[in-house]
Amino acid sequence: LEAKFSVIQEEDGPINGLITVVHDVTEKEKIEQERREFVANVSHELRTPLTTMKSYLEALEDGVMNDKELGPKFLNVTQNETERMIRLVNDLLQLSKIDSQDSKFTYQLVNMGSFLNDVIDRFEIIAVEKNITFKRKIANSPVYVKIAPDKLMQVLDNVISNAMKYSPEGEAIKIQMLQKEKFLQISIIDKGMGIPPESQTKIFERFYRVDKARARSVGGTGLGLAIAKELIQAHNGEIWAEGEYGKGTTINITLPYLNDQEGEHEL
Ligand code: ADP
Repeated sequence: LEAKFSVIQEEDGPINGLITVVHDVTEKEKIEQERREFVANVSHELRTPLTTMKSYLEALEDGVMNDKELGPKFLNVTQNETERMIRLVNDLLQLSKIDSQDSKFTYQLVNMGSFLNDVIDRFEIIAVEKNITFKRKIANSPVYVKIAPDKLMQVLDNVISNAMKYSPEGEAIKIQMLQKEKFLQISIIDKGMGIPPESQTKIFERFYRVDKARARSVGGTGLGLAIAKELIQAHNGEIWAEGEYGKGTTINITLPYLNDQEGEHEL
């Protein structure tokens, strides 16, 4: 928190220091600065794929289109960039819905063990292609938690696909669910490249990436974990990263058992 302290005092008169006002202004400035940074980031993130597409389309127009090998390759690049932009715009729209409290959360009591197993099952097919196996440590006994299933599925999809994206071929990803006293803890543990300690909280910020070039090449938008954090916080839970750089990453998610969310409400 930045706070500028200035003492307002007339000559020999009483001190009229309005410290709170100064503090408020600084907070406003900070929000305004964050907003400006966000707009700059969005513009940059959109300009990059657009300039790439422009140059590839120009090359196609200049004759590459007639090249049997290069033609389809260049078209493929423009296709990928378009898809990335669509993902980015969809993520931005979702964040703006959450920001303006326009996102609909429909809560219901869900048996978390079978819910988690279903989510992992959907990944098995893609995992086989990358020779990745899932090790499940999920108790059979039913544990019910009040969640918005579509939102929690999105969080888990994002975290599990990150674990796969940033892990080498042939590695195992462990997914465990632990019943603690007051909350349920889900952990997604990979043996991939890991995250430097100073970045472990930053990865939940909008557009923060440890390695921009690598994140881009695997098709990320840099918004997945920022969205995940908003969705988990709406469940009164927490999400954080741990792990040793170079050895792997663990993403932990906690969800309270007694979540006094209503059956359906607008966040
Ligand atoms: P992205 O779309 O870039 O993956 P995310 O918000 O999902 O965006 O993640 C932000 C960044 O956090 C990633 O770019 C990556 O640097 C890092 N990260 C996330 N998950 C992992 C992981 N399992 N292993 C290593 N790095 C990770």
